Amino acid sequence: MTVLVINSGSSSIKYQLINPADGAAIAAGLVERIGEEIGHYEHTYAGKTTEIDEPISDHGVGLRRVLEIMESAGPNLQEANIKAVGHRIVQGGKYFDRAAIITDEVQARIEQLCPLAPLHNPAHLKGIEVARKLLDVPHVAVFDTAFFQDLPAESAIYALDREVAEKYEIRRYGAHGTSHKFISEKVSELLGRDDLQQIVLHLGNGASVSAVKNGHAFDTSMGLTPLEGLVMGTRTGDIDPAVVFHLRRVAGMNVDDIDTLFNKKSGLKGLCGDNDMRQVRKRAAAGEQNAIEALEIYIHRILRYIGAYTAEMGGLDVLTFTAGAGENDADLRADVCARLAPFGIKLDAEKNKIRSKEPRTISTEDSTVRVMVIPTNEELSIARQAMELI
Ligand code: ADP
Repeated sequence: MTVLVINSGSSSIKYQLINPADGAAIAAGLVERIGEEIGHYEHTYAGKTTEIDEPISDHGVGLRRVLEIMESAGPNLQEANIKAVGHRIVQGGKYFDRAAIITDEVQARIEQLCPLAPLHNPAHLKGIEVARKLLDVPHVAVFDTAFFQDLPAESAIYALDREVAEKYEIRRYGAHGTSHKFISEKVSELLGRDDLQQIVLHLGNGASVSAVKNGHAFDTSMGLTPLEGLVMGTRTGDIDPAVVFHLRRVAGMNVDDIDTLFNKKSGLKGLCGDNDMRQVRKRAAAGEQNAIEALEIYIHRILRYIGAYTAEMGGLDVLTFTAGAGENDADLRADVCARLAPFGIKLDAEKNKIRSKEPRTISTEDSTVRVMVIPTNEELSIARQAMELI
């Protein structure tokens, strides 16, 4: 029995076939460059990867072809025994505080929320439309914002004119909620405690940090959209909104130019030309000043949030690193924690260096805060939430 988890982007579809019972990823793949001259399929099953390059005119063609590839490269649909399809949805607005079975009404809501997630929700809808046609099983939407629906008012509400904020549904919705929920629940489960004050650092290409108190989201760095907060691969994170007015007035840029600048051309990439932390590190190690400074700015922002969230919660029990850079970059973890030494946070240097796919503690016994590394698994979380619902 499996769940097919789909993450549909504007020109791509990522998928995993997951057994929610034991968490195994049975098959995984991606469809890329939809709508371009030549598209690309990559499908991995039983240790074997099948790759195909051919035009993929739209998401429907792409997904239909994936099902054909599964028939020939395995697992065929009968073996796969797909019981549900879980769709990752970035923006659920004020409507969804948990996953939902996709009906026409739910689909209409996701569409209605496109202005709040113009890069993501329209792309998810394409995936939903074609998958509902091709796979006659329940489809479930799992929202990145759901975990943050019950944020305390003081962290959810911007100090913006109330009338304007309410009329245009402007508040802090957060994102990456599926990961923050998965990680904070895992920490509670591993330590056997619900009464924890946690900070979760999700450091991937997109990056966010959350404060979780007694199992509930207490604050998070992403806001109305995933642009707010930490320095990311290509996004600015926090920036004075007056920069927008300034660029509009002085540089003559229009709103779309500024949107692209902030979301796609900034962050690590804008600071030093690379958005991949591995490259940034290589360049910094070679003495490139822009890369050294990019790392400093990246870490500085993380520290600012750790300090703020510890003060907001009134303490901190566990600090957890996850996602691409959080799970794999031991130097980054060491750099962040070295700056927290005055607060009694101590890493065990040997434990920090271990590369593993397993959850682990990397702080010393006498550290004031337990520091952990827990690999995130958003797909498994989506599969389990889908299975629970059906
Ligand atoms: P996404 O945010 O796209 O889901 P991931 O969580 O997989 O991505 O994170 C991808 C990022 O993780 C890469 O861009 C890279 O910066 C970082 N990363 C992956 N492996 C390493 C590593 N060994 N050292 C440093 N950074 C890494």
